[in-house]
Amino acid sequence: MKKTSSHAVAGRIKAVGYARVSTPEQAEKDLSLPAQMASIRRYAQDRGLALAGEFVERGVSGTDDNRPEFRRMLEEIYRPNSEVGMVIVTHGSRFMRNATRARVHKEQLRRHGIRVLAIQQTVSDDPNGHFAEGMFELIDQLESETNGVRTRAGMAENARQGYFNGSRPPFGFRVEKIATSAGPKNKLVIEPAEAELVREVFRQYLAGSGAKSTARHMNQRGLLYRKRLWTRDLVLRLVSDTGVVGKYIWGRLDSRGNCIRPESEWIPMVVERIVDDEIFQMVQDLRLRRDPGRNSGRLPSSPLFLAGLLRCSLCGDTCQLESSGKLDPNGEPYRYYNCRKFCRTGKEACAGYRIAVETLDSAIVSHIAEHVFTAERCHEILREFVEDQGILRQKTAEQRRLLERERDELGKRLERWYERIETDSELGDVGAERLRELKAKRDEVLRTLAKLKPMHSVPPYLYKPETIQRFQGRLREAFLGGDRATARVYLQNLVDHIVVGEDEIIIEARAGAALAMMSASGSTPPEATKGEVLADVVDWRPQQGSNLRPWL
Ligand SMILES: [Zn+2]
Repeated sequence: MKKTSSHAVAGRIKAVGYARVSTPEQAEKDLSLPAQMASIRRYAQDRGLALAGEFVERGVSGTDDNRPEFRRMLEEIYRPNSEVGMVIVTHGSRFMRNATRARVHKEQLRRHGIRVLAIQQTVSDDPNGHFAEGMFELIDQLESETNGVRTRAGMAENARQGYFNGSRPPFGFRVEKIATSAGPKNKLVIEPAEAELVREVFRQYLAGSGAKSTARHMNQRGLLYRKRLWTRDLVLRLVSDTGVVGKYIWGRLDSRGNCIRPESEWIPMVVERIVDDEIFQMVQDLRLRRDPGRNSGRLPSSPLFLAGLLRCSLCGDTCQLESSGKLDPNGEPYRYYNCRKFCRTGKEACAGYRIAVETLDSAIVSHIAEHVFTAERCHEILREFVEDQGILRQKTAEQRRLLERERDELGKRLERWYERIETDSELGDVGAERLRELKAKRDEVLRTLAKLKPMHSVPPYLYKPETIQRFQGRLREAFLGGDRATARVYLQNLVDHIVVGEDEIIIEARAGAALAMMSASGSTPPEATKGEVLADVVDWRPQQGSNLRPWL
């Protein structure tokens, strides 16, 4: 555990206040910026703290740290001669909605002798307090993610009813505001000039031009795509989008826009038609004949063994399949892993590093089976775990006591309200509202309690050398047994990621998963738990395992 050196704190006697409200939250009265600042000022005054600055952020989400006022505040308090030793917020969620980022910032602030204090969630500055704070951060994140899900549900319903959620209409359409009983909504209507270009693209493509030459034809005649030049990709995207035949798809990409959702979650939205079904279908058939590989948009039939685990050592991006187009003696294309940036953008973005799929797969498999989880390393994982676990167990017990007390307190308050409602018929809606709030709070506490299971001691068999030997035996069997599907499951669980570089490959393993496997190897014969072991969460396991870094 890192300690703040006391002399660093000595000169930091002032505080700053930080208030934030996101756009959807602006409607909520408790969260208003004046209310937040008033509460911060009162808190500082009550404790004789001088408020050296007030930073007020309006209409900005707390999921990341890219916020102007937040940045300005950090700049201010990190100044070498700053006297600020405390950031006051009304609630941790104002500071940061993302638990990991909150951790990172708070740790850095702590090293400068600065604490973040949330008025509604005061915690002591000791191990128990830090643990409680971590819990609060996780709850804030959960809340934020739940809000995200709710927002998506609302937008999905909107799309189902035929209303457009985005701001930039697809090509061929414009947005028209419509007054409804639920307020103004956006509808997509045909933009005649653009729709004519859509039809022209379909005609060109059907007349035998490929996507590239269709784009060229359009550009040469000055028929641009919203002032931009057409490209091959723009043409392909347009001719394959069902929006032009009256079925616009909403929700294809996830909220961050960087990954495609499963097709079952797409929501078709009825719009006006620009192109006839027959024309559209003819283009799809033509496309399939012309370019069968590219059309499917699916991964190759055999999934990449190391998919999702590889990182480029030069730029940190993930690695993906790169196919040279040449065929090997069996008539199969040569397959390589290479940096995603290199594959998508080219060598200007990242030089990348190409390595044959088979070569890397085999090297990783044999290395993990033989070298990564040596007896010494297994012992080390175990030793670290036992230490951490003792502290964690103590904190869990303490946290449970706190939550149980809150649960009982809420129970009593609920009881009192029930009595009041029974005796006082005037109370009506106010009482009902209050009951709902209290119940919601108690449910939240109960849910948290359910997740926070009491921890047991480390089972003694874990310390036995046989356990580790058995674990290693299973790894060898899984990785060297020749069954790639099994090996892949083990790999995805035991390895966090693999960094691929020109002269070294770094495997970052997951200690927690290794421990879970060791415990399973020790307690039961391998056959009995085959296939389940890795999914099984043993309740004494750490929440997050520390990583170990074996070098290949
Ligand atoms: Zn790269």
